Amino acid sequence: MCQTLGVSAHSEEILMSEVVTVADFLRVSAASDPERVALIDAVTGEELTYAELDERVTATAQIMLDRGLVPARIGDRVAMLLGNSIDFVVTYFAVVRAGLVAVPLNPGYTVGELAGILTECDAQILLVSADTVELGIAAAPSGCAVIFCDEVLPSKESLRGLLKESLRSLVKRNSSKTAMPRIESDDLALLLFTSGSDGVPKGVMLSHENLVSNIQALASLRNPPIVSAEDTVLAVLPLFHVYGLNTVLTLAIAAGAGVVLLDRFDAEQSLEVIAREHVTTVAGAPAMYLMWSRVSSVKDAMRPTRMLTSGGAPLPAEVFTRFEELTGMRIYEGYGMTETSPVITSTVVDGKAVAGSVGSAIPGTEIKIMADFGDEAETGDPGEIWVKGPGVFSGYWPNHSDGPDAQGWFGTGDIGYLDDDRSLHLVDRRRELIIVNGFNVFPREVEIVLESIDGVSEAAVLGRPDPETGEAVSALVVLAAGSALTAEEISVMAQESLARFKCPTDIRIVRSLPRSATGKIAKGRLREVYDLGVESPDVPSNT
Ligand code: AMP
Repeated sequence: MCQTLGVSAHSEEILMSEVVTVADFLRVSAASDPERVALIDAVTGEELTYAELDERVTATAQIMLDRGLVPARIGDRVAMLLGNSIDFVVTYFAVVRAGLVAVPLNPGYTVGELAGILTECDAQILLVSADTVELGIAAAPSGCAVIFCDEVLPSKESLRGLLKESLRSLVKRNSSKTAMPRIESDDLALLLFTSGSDGVPKGVMLSHENLVSNIQALASLRNPPIVSAEDTVLAVLPLFHVYGLNTVLTLAIAAGAGVVLLDRFDAEQSLEVIAREHVTTVAGAPAMYLMWSRVSSVKDAMRPTRMLTSGGAPLPAEVFTRFEELTGMRIYEGYGMTETSPVITSTVVDGKAVAGSVGSAIPGTEIKIMADFGDEAETGDPGEIWVKGPGVFSGYWPNHSDGPDAQGWFGTGDIGYLDDDRSLHLVDRRRELIIVNGFNVFPREVEIVLESIDGVSEAAVLGRPDPETGEAVSALVVLAAGSALTAEEISVMAQESLARFKCPTDIRIVRSLPRSATGKIAKGRLREVYDLGVESPDVPSNT
């Protein structure tokens, strides 16, 4: 399906063009202003213009197709274990241009977590960099070829034997004439694994249309524009997450803006980059704004900046206010989820950044609030947020399971209410999700790991408010009879199986967990037990 974009000099050109795939945005921007700098690696200083990026993307796509990877409605999967780098951007757009499916992975995951996902999605290729090559080789199942992206091969002999050539050197010598396949808007473009409530990661299936429609809706907002061709955008949010990938990177490429890539967030370093590169548009998460607000140079560093956005987790009113006092700028807040490509609402829609509201539904997307008994809630009354629109996914990998209902509505699991202006206010999350620095952790996944430790009988995991990360993971653990494990020992063992953000930062050993009348762990009472602490485990016994 052809869709059109909003206004402004550059967007006009996209408005007139057909955009079917995510990679079409890059083609249009490269045709519009080929010499414009598209990417700047903030650490190495490497730069690529739009023309160079577009060319490198096509060459990389040709190499993938010449290797035998098959484009299709659900094309072959290409997993990416890469930080925020030029190689990430080139390979992502190459995968989608070649009609294949990108599976970006969190380099913070453990070997076991990565191996599980790679097997589940049957990835044919795993792309790695110097930073992730050892992790990738350890995690890749047989049948999944590990391909090294950086120009300079690793110095270790053992690795050199496995990785004979880098993707970059193949691209330099590429003379392929392979034509790009025809891609339909509902072909699968992206598979993103998020934590599942049963402890097993679930693959969110996003089509080109899902991703393209979300970009077009955001690009049509003009009051103020989130990003335009004149802007320089900071891309420090991880590109393996839908927020960094679609809402920061692809939106900026669609607008023909410059993108400054930074792989790790450090408050002072990122402010230096913002000042040096004259960053005008900053997309962040609440924890980043909190940390920036503690650095005295924030006002000076952000002098060139005109647009601040936040999403992924609640932005505390104190941080919003403090930031405005410090910089004179208000932070626009958005709400969304991986399953919705991701943006559902934004305060940019009404052009009013106010603390406590996540704004109105973006154009083309509808929301409704459902009360407990299947009726829509009255204005001001909280209920579960349901969403319908072109950004909503088709379901989870591989069979499109648990997607939207027959009318296209999808229940988010979040609780909120609409005010008189149809602006959304988030109240709570119905499901037990814990959000650490914007990353989702389902308690069950952590509980399974804790319960697999020798000497642990059972475990219950809960989220606790944390001033730095929004929420932190805490655990209550019951030891097996005769076990003398300490909380520290359990913590060390958990780190072997869980990415750092999922590891409990506080483990309390208790005699028993609270149970409901039917014997289930009474999740609602965990907080109470947790607050009693290690020394007072006087809770109903499960025996
Ligand atoms: P993810 O799929 O990782 O993007 O996580 C989506 C979840 O993050 C949503 O279901 C919400 O619970 C939460 N979330 C996203 N944006 C916000 C926000 N602005 N404020 C509060 N929670 C948010």
